[in-house]
Amino acid sequence: MKKDIRDLDLVDIKKFCQENNMKPYVYKQVFSWLWNNSCSSFSDMSNLSKLNRDLFDKSFCINKIEEDIEERSEDGTIKIKFKLFDGHFVEGVLIPQNSRMTACISSQVGCSLSCNFCATGKMSRIRNLTAGEIYDQVVLISKKCLEVYNLPLTNIVYMGMGEPLLNYRNVIRSIHFITSDEGLEMSYKRLTLSTSGIAKMIRRLADDNIKVNLALSLHAASEEIRNNIMPIGGSNSLEDLRDSLKYYFSKTKRKITYEYVLLKDVNDTVKDADNLYKFTKHIPSKVNLIEYNPVYGLGFEKSSEKNTNLFIDYLDSRMVNVGLRRSRGKDINAACGQLANKK
Ligand code: SAH
Ligand code: SF4
Repeated sequence: MKKDIRDLDLVDIKKFCQENNMKPYVYKQVFSWLWNNSCSSFSDMSNLSKLNRDLFDKSFCINKIEEDIEERSEDGTIKIKFKLFDGHFVEGVLIPQNSRMTACISSQVGCSLSCNFCATGKMSRIRNLTAGEIYDQVVLISKKCLEVYNLPLTNIVYMGMGEPLLNYRNVIRSIHFITSDEGLEMSYKRLTLSTSGIAKMIRRLADDNIKVNLALSLHAASEEIRNNIMPIGGSNSLEDLRDSLKYYFSKTKRKITYEYVLLKDVNDTVKDADNLYKFTKHIPSKVNLIEYNPVYGLGFEKSSEKNTNLFIDYLDSRMVNVGLRRSRGKDINAACGQLANKK
């Protein structure tokens, strides 16, 4: 099978060009076609000689993703199911909010972490996406955004299917191409990476100086409750997570966002709010409370209006920077935690 050329770095392509006696600038042209121009076929690389195009074509392929099905919500949210080269599917979402246009993208087919409340967690992890496949979602959603709303994409969140920090290399490569002049040149500040909390990998992000907005899916600040709903908590204690976030902040100086889905009778009392306050007060941060999007068959319900308000009031009284995120695109299963490639 031919190798996907987008898995190669610039130096590897340069080497291939040298070995095949191509002109010294060809490797840069090809790289720019692949990323800046998101080109899907060597035959379209019009400034390359026919001979060189054929040489590349004989050795490599370009595994692009394709739009399969699009669904539109009454609130303007658009969900796109993408087909991958090997027949698997992932989903990406465009969320319009005034002039803020956010792409929510996937990093894995399925997820191995089985959080009890999440639809993706019900699927097993099938495979990691390549950097190219992650990048393609941004390019295609961005096109859709221009087409439908006549506006450019402003934000990207790694909050679709999968755990980004368990596909570290490809996710970091995709961030590189999204932010650098080799690709889309978007500012780091417009990118948010959401993780269920893998302390070791959060430290690695800090060491690699990846200055994205980091969102931690906390959902409970008591060890017992968290472990009950998120199995990953078993190997990543709250203390360890807090230390890794402190480290991330000390290196990058970026505020942490805590995500907290309010679940009825699970994590929504004032005592839970107090635990959350105590957990978050150590590092500059904000809290995004998330309204739960029911997933059929998982047995969770969203918190009542009353408990939600008491929870928010308590955090307000403690000067926690808190907001409530009501989810979008629920009628088409495009909201957080509802992505599961359903027909
Ligand atoms: N795997 C990563 C990113 C994808 S999930 C993570 O867990 O952070 C994106 C966010 O949606 C996470 O905060 C996740 O906990 C939340 N989520 C999952 N299922 C949900 C649901 N049914 N309703 C609301 N939020 C949900
Ligand atoms: Fe995976 Fe995130 Fe869903 Fe947990 S919440 S199962 S980590 S996608």
